[in-house]
Amino acid sequence: MDIAEAEVAPASALLRRVLAGIPSGENPVTHLTTLPVRPPRHQDWPEWVPDDVVSALRKSGVARPFSHQVEAAEHAWHGRHVVISTGTASGKSLGYQLPVLSTLTTRSRSTALYLSPTKALANDQLRSVTDLGLRRVRATACDGDTPIPERDWARDHANLIFSNPDMLHHAMLSAHQRWARFFRQLDYVVVDECHSFRGVFGSHVAVLLRRLRRVAAYYGASPTFVLASATTADPATFAQRLTGTECVAVTEDGSGRGARTVVLWEPPLLTEITGENGAPVRRSAGAEASRILADLVIEGARSLAFVTSRRGAELTAAGTRRVLADVDPELPERVAAYRAGFLPEERRELEAKLLSGELLGVASTNALELGIDIAGLDAVVLAGYPGTLASFWQQAGRAGRSTQDALVVFVARDNPLDTYLVHHPDAVLDRPVEAAVLDPANPYVLGPQLACAAAELPLRAEELASFGGDAAREVLATLVDDKLLRRRASGWYWTSRQRPHAQVGIRGGGNDQVMIVEAETSRVLGTVDSAAACATVHQGAVYLHQGASFVVDELDLDAGIALVHAENPEWSTSARDVTDIEVLETTSRQVFGDVTVCLGQVAVTSQVVGYLRRLPSGEVIDQVPLDLPERTLRTRAVWYTISDELLSGRLLSGREPGGAGLTSARIPGSLHAAEHAAIGLLPLFATCDRWDIGGVSTALHADTGEATVFVHDGHPGGAGFADRGHAALVPWLAATREAIVSCECPAGCPSCVQSPKCGNGNEPLDKAGAVAVLDTVLGEVRADLPV
Ligand SMILES: [Zn+2]
Ligand SMILES: [Zn+2]
Repeated sequence: MDIAEAEVAPASALLRRVLAGIPSGENPVTHLTTLPVRPPRHQDWPEWVPDDVVSALRKSGVARPFSHQVEAAEHAWHGRHVVISTGTASGKSLGYQLPVLSTLTTRSRSTALYLSPTKALANDQLRSVTDLGLRRVRATACDGDTPIPERDWARDHANLIFSNPDMLHHAMLSAHQRWARFFRQLDYVVVDECHSFRGVFGSHVAVLLRRLRRVAAYYGASPTFVLASATTADPATFAQRLTGTECVAVTEDGSGRGARTVVLWEPPLLTEITGENGAPVRRSAGAEASRILADLVIEGARSLAFVTSRRGAELTAAGTRRVLADVDPELPERVAAYRAGFLPEERRELEAKLLSGELLGVASTNALELGIDIAGLDAVVLAGYPGTLASFWQQAGRAGRSTQDALVVFVARDNPLDTYLVHHPDAVLDRPVEAAVLDPANPYVLGPQLACAAAELPLRAEELASFGGDAAREVLATLVDDKLLRRRASGWYWTSRQRPHAQVGIRGGGNDQVMIVEAETSRVLGTVDSAAACATVHQGAVYLHQGASFVVDELDLDAGIALVHAENPEWSTSARDVTDIEVLETTSRQVFGDVTVCLGQVAVTSQVVGYLRRLPSGEVIDQVPLDLPERTLRTRAVWYTISDELLSGRLLSGREPGGAGLTSARIPGSLHAAEHAAIGLLPLFATCDRWDIGGVSTALHADTGEATVFVHDGHPGGAGFADRGHAALVPWLAATREAIVSCECPAGCPSCVQSPKCGNGNEPLDKAGAVAVLDTVLGEVRADLPV
């Protein structure tokens, strides 16, 4: 829904107001640009859409469909799998609603399944279909919260089910015989927000959709897939990886868009406080967002600030209210924080208040990003890069007015990726949105998934091609050795009466989970992977859950339990560890003069030895020792090695004079700093979070015999991140170098080479040495690459 236009100043005036309070001499704006208006392109309703569907949609406010909606609907109606990849609030839903509703209202037994990553989004979509009031559409939601009688009704009577991958896995496929009626005439499968199916979760969903196609085929159905995605690079290839079948892409966005002024903003380095090892720190993005939001509220602009953590959103709203209280006692009431865990009614109420202007400023986490029905705001503030360009534009897309331009301010956080982005506007404004990374052939995903598939229906040899071919064959052999499956002439059979589905978690992480329990109430707050438990829920760790803060009293790894109590200390904690990495298998090895680049399997052994307590300003309070066991992670890594001669500069490579010119004392800090920054920048190329990856650097590694920098996936078996880094090595390391050089700190800070998750307390780090290392590696690799 678009908000009514109000008398609010143009973006330039809003920005002037925001900048008015900045001390002279400071200039936080690194770039400013205006994105032009795009007029809408409409088309006629396709002639195959029944009259009652057209009139219901017209009544709901759609006078005529946009061109991309018709294009996608035509493909789906004619049985071609299709992915719609257009901007936020461009009305992608109509693209699937047209073929699905037309089919359901004209074919009596036809059914359709809608899947989305969140329940909130599925419920919103259900509501918009139900509101159409079409007599022959029997739509319902079916998720983990659906009571059994309603689930039974859905199974026996519904022809349109709004659900999620978890439900499909745990209920629908595991007991498919009971859902035979639904699968028999399954004509459409809709996968909404499909770009969010990435990493380990995305890899699970990819195999799950192959299982769905297989079960549907068993009942004689061959559903058409309609996928909706944020704008991404090469959506057709991604959709094919996700569904296992060829998809047409619709990317020409026919919806109109107002003009927007986009401002990139870097908070200044603070002089009064210092962080780890005396490094300078910047004013926090959250504090900066509070001030900006307050100025926007004073101007009467309806504004949304996106903050990356739940607590950050609360703090930003509180900070904004504090500033406003000094200006006008009425204004603080018009600012709210959007909390995760809101009920749908609460969320809709907040939306309505923001649209009506009763609320002027809302600070939110990314929770708001999916499933909120708001566009056309006067201003959006992004406090920190949300991790992907798709999310960036999804958040920025909430701003946009029809009569004058809206304001978007991107405030950098104190980390290398944000630093790089505010100094390289083209990487934000002109770069195609990254393709999502997933790897359905990951044996840690494929193993449990194939066990489920075999339990659903015996697996036949000719089916293996769709599950990854040789990778599937290897995994099946292991399952047979483990006596989970039996091999017969006709295929692979599940041996137990009990189906494996309940033991297979599709949202990443193995079965090996640690439960986080509030000691006083015995309430289970959540679970963490046991591999991550030592670093995140060790004794003394501050653990955040749905905006509330807890402190861990005890971690019992044998029992798989972490006991916590509610407490909100002013510090956060970060673990310190010692890590060792062993090369298990090298799958690719390229030699470029004195630099070698590899990709392969590694074993990362780490032991958490203590943790740091840190204030929100970045200031470190103290370091507390811990006694925890070693953990080993088998995963994938990309690494490069450099000869001693090249590092020290004794070698003149013949092509380029020089070498890095580093003394042996500087080498460890230089490699370490280069490693940190590379981890910080990999999310630019691999659609991951820097917490999904790790790294190890050493001046002499036992397996390579040379100075080596490793960057590895943080999940067992890998999720494709290291592979992506390997494929994009030159642009990745070039961006890493740029990020370091762009930071004006003298000798390293959180914006360039310091890392909040460094196991070594960010020591040693050599900022200038890191640039020398990266220049040397890039020089050797580029000299050898075919032009
Ligand atoms: Zn710096
Ligand atoms: Zn480190």
